[in-house]
Amino acid sequence: MQIEFFKHSINHEEKEALLKVLDTPYIAMGKVVKELESKFSEYLKIKHSIAVSSCTDALYLSLRALNIDEGDEVITTPLTFVATSNAICATGAKPVFLDVDPLTGLIDIDEVEHRITKNTKAIIPVHLYGHMVDMDKLSNLASKHDLRIIEDCAHCIEGDFKGIKPGELSDTACFSFFATKNITSGEGGMISTNLDLLNEKLRMMRSHGQSTSADERYRKDIISWDMHILGLNHKMTDFQAAMLLPQLRRMDALWKKRKEIYQIYYDAFAANNIPMPIIRDGVKSGLHLFTIWTDKSKRTEILKQLRGKGIHCTMNYNPVHLLSYYQETYGYKLGDFPNAENIGLSTISLPFYPLLNSNQVHYVIENVCKILKEI
Ligand SMILES: *Cc1c(COP(=O)(O)O)cnc(C)c1O
Repeated sequence: MQIEFFKHSINHEEKEALLKVLDTPYIAMGKVVKELESKFSEYLKIKHSIAVSSCTDALYLSLRALNIDEGDEVITTPLTFVATSNAICATGAKPVFLDVDPLTGLIDIDEVEHRITKNTKAIIPVHLYGHMVDMDKLSNLASKHDLRIIEDCAHCIEGDFKGIKPGELSDTACFSFFATKNITSGEGGMISTNLDLLNEKLRMMRSHGQSTSADERYRKDIISWDMHILGLNHKMTDFQAAMLLPQLRRMDALWKKRKEIYQIYYDAFAANNIPMPIIRDGVKSGLHLFTIWTDKSKRTEILKQLRGKGIHCTMNYNPVHLLSYYQETYGYKLGDFPNAENIGLSTISLPFYPLLNSNQVHYVIENVCKILKEI
């Protein structure tokens, strides 16, 4: 049996929607992107959503729009995809990492106050694997110290923390539609915000700083435009948006399928005493990745044996502060964040997506348990 690490859930609906766009005269950012933005806002019950070309862009633009610059510090977690902290570095600001909660892998909010300096401007919490950070606690802390919050929601559109949704208590929430995310257009991203001025600024920054978009000029017959702030090109296309709209409609059904698989995996691994992150009471996780924790020194061998059984796995994530660039540029080193290192260096991500059938799920369980017992 061969079990891919990930398979998307794109079907005939997306294919038809895509072809329809290709028959229109304007295939760049136009009215389908607008429709996606409004449907996305509706889903989150948020005021504005701004489609962009990736979550990395969403994070970078959010930081820029909030005037984060050289000399500033932004607090985040080392247990994330490198895009989170790369976006900080790209503004010239310094990423200041905090250790994580050993049970969930989420940034340890109780540590935030110890790392605030006069240069600290913002915090980027990451809703790791879909498990939302305690946004209530974090936003109280942020307002106490006048810090901005940018949520990295690459793993979580569907979740909430005790009823609080992504974007509800932050300046912006940033989403990814990369090929392996819960819904996808290959590449793509979204910024959601309740703040009107930030919305206007982000819309201009996504499109060269222009005061009107090419589509608006075309539809409304406007010829001239001006530029007030610096922007580059971070736009999404109508054909990406067309692919995302049907997936957005099916998103809760896709989540339910992952929830079923999550429960089967979780119960089986718990019964076999295999450690894994927990989901806290009152949290609805976006359920993006399913990870288990193994013996660090045996992880490579375990991955090799799983591959031998046709089970394709990955690691999410090797701690960012240990990557050469971060060690060399900021002086981070092994031992700085023990919980993040324990999790990051021992974790294995298993196949976890709606198209997995029951046979495959049980095949994964059987082989994981057997390999971990015998190694
Ligand atoms: C995928 C991912 C990103 C980057 O998303 P892109 O759309 O690929 O730029 C950022 N943060 C996390 C946690 C991710 O998993």
